[in-house]
Amino acid sequence: MARYTGPLCRLCRREGIKLYLKGDRCYSSKCAIDRRGYAPGMHGQRRKKLSEYGMQLREKQKARRIYGVLERQFRNYFERAERQPGVTGENLLRLLERRLDNVVYRLGLATSRQEARQLVLHGHFRLNGRKVNIPSLLVRVGDEIEVREKSRESSRIKELMERAADRTPPAWLEYDANQAKGRVVAFPTRDQIDIPVKEQMIVELYSR
Ligand code: SF4
Repeated sequence: MARYTGPLCRLCRREGIKLYLKGDRCYSSKCAIDRRGYAPGMHGQRRKKLSEYGMQLREKQKARRIYGVLERQFRNYFERAERQPGVTGENLLRLLERRLDNVVYRLGLATSRQEARQLVLHGHFRLNGRKVNIPSLLVRVGDEIEVREKSRESSRIKELMERAADRTPPAWLEYDANQAKGRVVAFPTRDQIDIPVKEQMIVELYSR
């Protein structure tokens, strides 16, 4: 599946908030939002009043960029969310959270979703005992995600495992640091998804 390959900090500057796309750098003084907290481009420093459509569009772009999903795929998630019972906006976020790359990130085994995606693509994880390399795969309750034995020798993975051991994952996930294994104990509820997006505005955008 295709992905955005342009400059990531530019995306944060466009949205006007930190989207935490670059791991450790986002917490350092090098963060572009801290240094140049205005939109990119020639007219980036102009004040702009957004229309209702503009605000809805920004919410959608923010969500898409946080999870690293392109428009077509994002639309597919939305259509799937619409078919599910319950609140469409929450269903949408829940689907995005269930992506394997996001789960690896949430377990603390990557410093950003982008890194998690890369690690999954390179086959560093097993899902229920089987090697996987599809970042967009949706996990289910009861699924187990573990670092492959061979990958545990890599210095970067070792470092990430140490970091994960010091972290507490969100309540819908469990992590066993001794086995480098995570487990999905439930699907996340809206209050367990800490992303700064007004999902109802995305629903309104797609309902136009
Ligand atoms: Fe966004 Fe991180 Fe870049 Fe800061 S360093 S602008 S949070 S991607």
